[in-house]
Amino acid sequence: MLTKRGIPVSPGVAIGTALVFGQEKFKIPNQFVRVKAVDSEVIRFRCALEGVCREIAETQQQANDRLGGKYGAIFGAHLEMARDPKLIDEIETLIRKRRYAPEFAVSKVLKGYAKELQSLGATYLSERATDMFDLEKSILRHLMGEQREELSNLTEPVIILAYNLTPSETASLDRRNVKAFVTESGGATSHTAILAGALEIPAVVGVGAFLNDAIAGQTIIVDGDHGEVIIDPDEDCLIQYRDSESTHRRYHQSLLDKGQRDAVTKDGERVQVYGNIEFPEEAEHCKTLGADGIGLYRTEFLYLGSRWDRTEEDHYHAYQRVVDQFPTLPVVIRTLDLGADKIPGGMTSYFSQSPNPELGLRSIRVSLDNQELFKRQLRAILRASVNRDVRIMFPLVASLMDLRQANMILKDVREDLTEQQIPFSTSVQVGMMVEVPSVAIMAEEFAREVDFFSIGTNDLIQYTLAADRSDPAVSKYYTGADPAILRMIRLVVEGARRCGIPVTVCGQMSSEPRFVPLLIGLGIRAVSVTPHAIPEIKEIICSLALSQAEEIARHALQLELARDVESYLRGELKRICPQLVK
Ligand code: PEP
Ligand code: MG
Repeated sequence: MLTKRGIPVSPGVAIGTALVFGQEKFKIPNQFVRVKAVDSEVIRFRCALEGVCREIAETQQQANDRLGGKYGAIFGAHLEMARDPKLIDEIETLIRKRRYAPEFAVSKVLKGYAKELQSLGATYLSERATDMFDLEKSILRHLMGEQREELSNLTEPVIILAYNLTPSETASLDRRNVKAFVTESGGATSHTAILAGALEIPAVVGVGAFLNDAIAGQTIIVDGDHGEVIIDPDEDCLIQYRDSESTHRRYHQSLLDKGQRDAVTKDGERVQVYGNIEFPEEAEHCKTLGADGIGLYRTEFLYLGSRWDRTEEDHYHAYQRVVDQFPTLPVVIRTLDLGADKIPGGMTSYFSQSPNPELGLRSIRVSLDNQELFKRQLRAILRASVNRDVRIMFPLVASLMDLRQANMILKDVREDLTEQQIPFSTSVQVGMMVEVPSVAIMAEEFAREVDFFSIGTNDLIQYTLAADRSDPAVSKYYTGADPAILRMIRLVVEGARRCGIPVTVCGQMSSEPRFVPLLIGLGIRAVSVTPHAIPEIKEIICSLALSQAEEIARHALQLELARDVESYLRGELKRICPQLVK
């Protein structure tokens, strides 16, 4: 029995059989293929190679356009290498004659050449060796991509152990057959973690290297409440976890039974509790759990499945499905937040130029850079607004110029629809996410130009504390309990109050019980949380007096260290709702 610790990102306990998925980024699954499969494996290799060549050609085109022919030529050389008939022949011969799996054959041939080139010593040749390694990785990525799709077609329940899962892979998980997952990499508010919560799959991420200790088929316990992963547990441990699993289920059920009540503090202050969703199907679930509407619909997930070329109708139907669940309540549709870790399959080369994707072309910047894409989405949102309380929200706004440009494009779209006599509501509220410190600092100026704010603490924390939200190496620096974050939130609330606009918190901080009294005390009157947390968050609000929350905020603001804020908030939660302290 071996216990590993990581970051708990989606609650619940699961006990099941391990499916080890990638020892490292590119683990070769099998060395050999069956005789009958040889032809289809050769075709699989050719398709992967074709995909790689297409990608290189796209990059070449972009390099030509943006930087000139000299840079484009670099990729021309890569393309030549990928299409080298000798290389292709060698790989295919290994698949046909030795029955090597394409992944194994590709690695053997390309690594072989790369090592030979490296051994010759000259700088020019060692650069070619790097190109060979890159080509190997690209072909493997295409080959493994196909294999990874099998995750959506599992036939029996498993616990997935992986180096990493991308948001698109996580989105494709079949929740009937994935009892939990554990990854070596990832951070508390990475999109993979958020999706785990949405799918209600217990998950622990950022465990560090552990795959070498696990064997496929072994029993694993994943404790998504405490961030523990137990490999090959003994009988006592299994009994203990089975007990805690059923206690957790009973408590959760008791909260569900109280789900439809309003969230009102003991002294009568009403707090809105909205749901965060990534897929339209989740809206119904939010309704069942007692949500006051949808406070954040992450529409970019429409692009992260198998198809990335979405039409206006695709958008419209998705939005209709959500608003139909909440005909009289607010539905906040956030415009595309693509980029960083959310890259649609067909747009890899568009994003690949960025040396630091979190600070690069992402989110509203992508929409402003691709107005056709942006307008298509805005048209669909406005069309879905007829007789509904649909609200538009722009993500990752960093300057007033971004906001004004986005509003200008929205104005154009409204004019087009009017001209075309296509109905839409003329009273759609337009708000923005507060995710960048520049906005918190100038909150009042921004507040004058929007109908509402929604604080995205996931990004606000990473940009304020310079700690990547997905990187376990810096997870100890990434915390909502940092005094600077408390002050940022206070700034936003004050700026909004001066202009009379409401503020929601839709980042994960509002789904974490210990932060809820603090947020209410800081003046927040609406939170938008991961669906499964709705009953829990309502329970905290109903167990709390506003005066108590204000006292908690006052005290927390006097503390200087995140560590002290953290333990103070845990202590306070224990007094308010002891059952919720994990
Ligand atoms: C946030 O940054 O807090 C947020 C809600 O947006 P996302 O997690 O989708 O980046
Ligand atoms: Mg964000």
